[in-house]
Amino acid sequence: MQTIAVNADTYSDYLKDGKDFIDDAALTAALSAPAPSAARVREILARSLEVSEALPPEDTAALLAVEDPALLEEIYQAARDVKRKVYDNRVITFAPLYASNYCVNNCQYCGFRTGNSGAVRRKLSMDEIRAEAEALAGRIGHKRLIFVTGEHPSTGAAYIAEAMKTIYAVKVPTRRSFGQIRRVNVNAAPMTVPDLKLLKEAGVGTYQVFQETYDRELYARLHPGNTPKGDYRWRLYVMHRAFAAGIDDVALGALFGLNPDWKFEVLGLVAHARELEARFGIGPHTISFPRLESADGTSLPADSLENVSDADFKKLVAVLRLSVPYAGMIVTARERPETIREVIGMCTQRDASTRIGIGAYSERAGAQEAEKQQFILGDTRSLDEVIGELADLGHITSFCTSGYRCGRTGDHIMKLLKAGKEGRFCKLNAVLTFREWLDDFASDKTKAKGEALIKKEIAEIRARSAHFPPETVKVLEAYYSRIEGGERDLCF
Ligand code: SF4
Repeated sequence: MQTIAVNADTYSDYLKDGKDFIDDAALTAALSAPAPSAARVREILARSLEVSEALPPEDTAALLAVEDPALLEEIYQAARDVKRKVYDNRVITFAPLYASNYCVNNCQYCGFRTGNSGAVRRKLSMDEIRAEAEALAGRIGHKRLIFVTGEHPSTGAAYIAEAMKTIYAVKVPTRRSFGQIRRVNVNAAPMTVPDLKLLKEAGVGTYQVFQETYDRELYARLHPGNTPKGDYRWRLYVMHRAFAAGIDDVALGALFGLNPDWKFEVLGLVAHARELEARFGIGPHTISFPRLESADGTSLPADSLENVSDADFKKLVAVLRLSVPYAGMIVTARERPETIREVIGMCTQRDASTRIGIGAYSERAGAQEAEKQQFILGDTRSLDEVIGELADLGHITSFCTSGYRCGRTGDHIMKLLKAGKEGRFCKLNAVLTFREWLDDFASDKTKAKGEALIKKEIAEIRARSAHFPPETVKVLEAYYSRIEGGERDLCF
């Protein structure tokens, strides 16, 4: 059993004049500026479309201040344009694997909190984790997952590293070939540098920690000071420690709805991205913006769920998309299908076939799932249904995990993303991995939609010879035939 890290001072070296990179006064001042002119908004949008570094706070605040419906439409269109420019029409799908709901923290909004005496506690063994991965890779068809635990001595870095090795070792038969989880991302507590090195050695994809709220006072109210999570700075500087441990693929997020002043959280996320860019030359790989959902055993005011309306949500997604133009953007199954449809054109990833009960993928339809969930899901559709809908909307589902395995991470991927070049590899790999999934898992209906989409993608690739020279197309065609013949994991 590991012990929870002592939150020693690990941030002093990163302070500027004794201050954190979250400058409350500067962010608040930026938010109080008057609404910008249309000309200024268009100038900001044009800069965002250049896909360089994250926008300064005053630009993000200016976009957030726009209320004019016509100008807002321009913002939404620009957000979709940026997404297209950097990531093309692909959407990556994944599933969360909830491995344990033991937690020493007492976050007021979470069903896993230690004070929730009604929660049924459970931690998966390695055999159970293997069964979950087999269900995801063999029955549903996922290739990537995010491994999630509460914060507890029994589920520290050693447990997570062993789980990752267990998951990577899974290889299960499918309709045409075999399934595997090729990328394991981790969402867990902030760790020490030695613990983060353990995750790195075990092959972590993206290391994800959400600050929840960047507002210090609110943070202190929601996270009791006698718990590890009560230390705002220990959490705020976790990605600095991740870089120190050699992990250069990190993910940020905030839990929207905790703070009635949700615009502050948008500025906090962008300030965090700018700090990582300035300090390490690499911004976040992804940004998440989960919205508060009801959960058993929480103790938030009843109206907290109304702090961010659907209209606010669409706006914050668009402004984040534009403010950190190179970053992947994750919309989750917390949201209802209609909300996801509104924003998916600005996003790069979503989860699907999601189950958040502990052991819920491998055990029959979770008889006790409601007792073990951290929150309530808004979109419970199957991966097959989600992929069919994405195809209807013109998005190709990508199961590509090659960037990480070919060394396209960190500084390398940032350069490709900013130059709009990563999309080229991705387009080819999306076609190949989508073909795999259609053959192994799709219903007849989704397969027909998917094949029509693949045809269109290949025609587009052939037509864009400046991006895809004839020799590349030849390799694509060769890989494609081999995949149809049952080979797997061929990628650019
Ligand atoms: S939000 Fe995370 S740290 Fe807080 S109680 Fe829930 S599982 Fe624990």
